[in-house]
Amino acid sequence: MNLTLEQIQDFKGKYPRQIWSLFFSEMWERFCFYGMRGMLVFFMISELKFGDQQANLQYGATQAFVYAFTFVGGLFADKILGFRKSLFWGGLLMIVGSLILAFEPHQFFFLGIAFTVVGTGFFKPNISTMVGKLYKSDDTRRDAGFSLFYAGINLGALLGGYLCIAIGKGEMLSSIIPEDKRWNVAFGLAAIVMVISLINFVFTQRRMGPIGLAPQKILADGTKVALEKWKEYGVYVLSLIFVPLIMVMVSVPQYTDYFMWTVGPLTLIYLFYEMSKVTSPERKKLWAALIFILFSILFWGIYEQSGGSLSIFAAKNLNKDLLGLDPNGVNNSGGAFFIIFLAPLFGLLWIWLSKRKLEPNTIIKFGLGFIFLGLGYYVLFATRFFADLQGITSLNIFTIALLVITFGELCLSPIGLSIMTKLSTEKLQGMMMGLWFLASAYGQYVAGIIGAGMATAKEGSSNMDALIAYTDGYKQLGLYALIAGVLLIIISPFVKKLMQEVR
Ligand code: GLN
Repeated sequence: MNLTLEQIQDFKGKYPRQIWSLFFSEMWERFCFYGMRGMLVFFMISELKFGDQQANLQYGATQAFVYAFTFVGGLFADKILGFRKSLFWGGLLMIVGSLILAFEPHQFFFLGIAFTVVGTGFFKPNISTMVGKLYKSDDTRRDAGFSLFYAGINLGALLGGYLCIAIGKGEMLSSIIPEDKRWNVAFGLAAIVMVISLINFVFTQRRMGPIGLAPQKILADGTKVALEKWKEYGVYVLSLIFVPLIMVMVSVPQYTDYFMWTVGPLTLIYLFYEMSKVTSPERKKLWAALIFILFSILFWGIYEQSGGSLSIFAAKNLNKDLLGLDPNGVNNSGGAFFIIFLAPLFGLLWIWLSKRKLEPNTIIKFGLGFIFLGLGYYVLFATRFFADLQGITSLNIFTIALLVITFGELCLSPIGLSIMTKLSTEKLQGMMMGLWFLASAYGQYVAGIIGAGMATAKEGSSNMDALIAYTDGYKQLGLYALIAGVLLIIISPFVKKLMQEVR
């Protein structure tokens, strides 16, 4: 079944058929990723006997590196490997990482993590870019496709995030898994689903036509030839060399600071270098992409409180008035749960609006994303009005806040993936997608700093003090988000100009 690009992109209906295969590969990859991520802090504290603070710092470092490596993964995909090989290589490294953790989680913990970090860097941006390739440049169904894809991301996140830690802690399957093997099985599960992801991808490839093949070299007479093999092998070797480096970097949290402070400026310099080589209309689009990327740092900085300060807030200040559910469970998985149902609906909404010529363009969607985020944080602030005298407040209201924040995420995150594929030049697609995720790395980093700022003064204080301190903080964050949203809408005419025909 050798399809041409036109045959793939000329699909009827709402979604291209191939999107389902990418949906499932990404779903399993996110299962593996969020499954591991969900286990990290608990495992470091309970098994490796790290202190709380150290475990949290190391968790933050891992998150930063994982998203920072997407830039490297995207860059090598553009220049040498192509998206398919990059994705496959990344998947293999993730399998190796999970297997190391499955066999020797205590002894080789950081080695396993380092493999996963590099692997994710090669996998994550490139599968997202391939979704964009299923569409013609002016196809208005693209945002809907990314919204659907985003539902897959969150389905995997929800399942992996729930199952792995539950097995590790012995809350699930404890009757059939011996106590000393629980963590091995939990990490092993992450490896198995990653194998499923890759097998699924191998079958997918057949229906992808030319999408994601390695770039070719154009000779002086115009003929195209494959790149030299040594370059491909060079990338494999180089990525293996990164593994021990990352191992060291992740294990000393201070290095993360140095890393974050140097990597951002360097990538920007590199981006400007690449921008100097393209035509002026292309350059304008890349500037627009950069504006979206910079704003997304603020978005994730606020949004990612969920892993930090909000989890402490959930543990200290929330009751169980929502069906008796555990507040931390709701905080960890509520967002993903809402997205699975809402993302396809948002996608259909965009298509519906577009048919009526009412679809907001990307910059307005981003603005709305921030406004919903801000409103969600105001709802978090409002939880204080439902508190009892002990400073314990309503999980129901908290869940409404999560829902509102999720609306914001759906206006920004899948749309951000989509716009990267629209604004990047053909040769910079992987790198720009990598930059989009690199912004998430900075978002995580900023989130940690904001969260720590809210938490420090409060140690040993009462629940009521904590409630007041945290909700004050959330009100401020809500305000920042609203300001960013309004600012985006104000500058939208300027950004629209940069985007030219792209919407
Ligand atoms: N939750 C989404 C994912 O895992 C978005 C992550 C991000 O960009 N920070 O893909």
